[in-house]
Amino acid sequence: MILDFKKALCGVFPSLAVSFFLGQNSRTMGVKILAVSDQVVERIYSSQLAQLYPDVDLIIGCGDLPYTYLEYILTVLGKPLLYVPGNHDPDYVPANPKTRVHGGTLLDDKTLRRNGLIFAGLGGSVLYRPDGANQYTQFAMYLRAYNLALKLIMNRILYGRALDVLVTHSPPAGIHDDDDPAHRGLHAINWLMRWFKPRYVLHGHTHFYRQNLAPSHSQVGATTVINVYPYRLIEIE
Ligand SMILES: [Zn+2]
Repeated sequence: MILDFKKALCGVFPSLAVSFFLGQNSRTMGVKILAVSDQVVERIYSSQLAQLYPDVDLIIGCGDLPYTYLEYILTVLGKPLLYVPGNHDPDYVPANPKTRVHGGTLLDDKTLRRNGLIFAGLGGSVLYRPDGANQYTQFAMYLRAYNLALKLIMNRILYGRALDVLVTHSPPAGIHDDDDPAHRGLHAINWLMRWFKPRYVLHGHTHFYRQNLAPSHSQVGATTVINVYPYRLIEIE
């Protein structure tokens, strides 16, 4: 399956594929990010991990992964982890240690700077089950996006730009999403892209079954939208 994944990656995104292969043994000036989402991959959850990715600078979790898996990755690589929750993750409760990744930084509804890049996070998916954790109506997600927007405006004042990388669980509406109730994209992400023009949106949630038919990345204006399911190595200059 991993071989198929690599083959598909070469076909749909040669530059990422080059980064994927060369990145294992070379060092360049960019920030090297290992992004993971939705599915535990044996190759990563293995004793080879440190040899496979010796020069990763940062780990990004886009949701719906066991927190023990994320803790394994950040412990073995010894690098910071930023993550947002997916709709299969528990609601974050500060008093309950089982609802967070130990050693990781929850990026949900937040923005922060790491390795010279500005990140912001918006986890969760569209509401499709009344009692679902980390699920929101399109309207509720807009309210969260407006709240995040205030922080992004502050970034623009302080740093001259709003953000570089938006980390989400769900895809934007109409981009890498699906028609069934659980996998519709979020309009609030499109809104954030329109107003704040991140260089990248990294998301998961929509499983990439049709690897040879559908792209895992899309260019939308100034933004490259990447479905990281189940993992990607991304280098940002
Ligand atoms: Zn999901």
